Amino acid sequence: MTRKYYTGPIIGVSFDADVCQHAAECVRGMPEVFNVSRRPWIDPGVADTPELAQKLRNVIGRCPSGALCVEER
Ligand code: SF4
Repeated sequence: MTRKYYTGPIIGVSFDADVCQHAAECVRGMPEVFNVSRRPWIDPGVADTPELAQKLRNVIGRCPSGALCVEER
């Protein structure tokens, strides 16, 4: 279905809500990026250093459903 894209300073994130299994790996892993009480709920803007961008890649890699993808520039 529809994949939404969220751009960031180093990497972006895309998300497909139809695929998400609500396992909350993302929210637990990096709550400053994935915050369901905020709109938009994904903000890659805080991952503005190479270290934080790598942490974000790792958190996205733990998404069990494939709903989240890293969008390299
Ligand atoms: S980790 Fe993936 S499957 Fe789990 S809530 Fe986040 S996007 Fe959905």
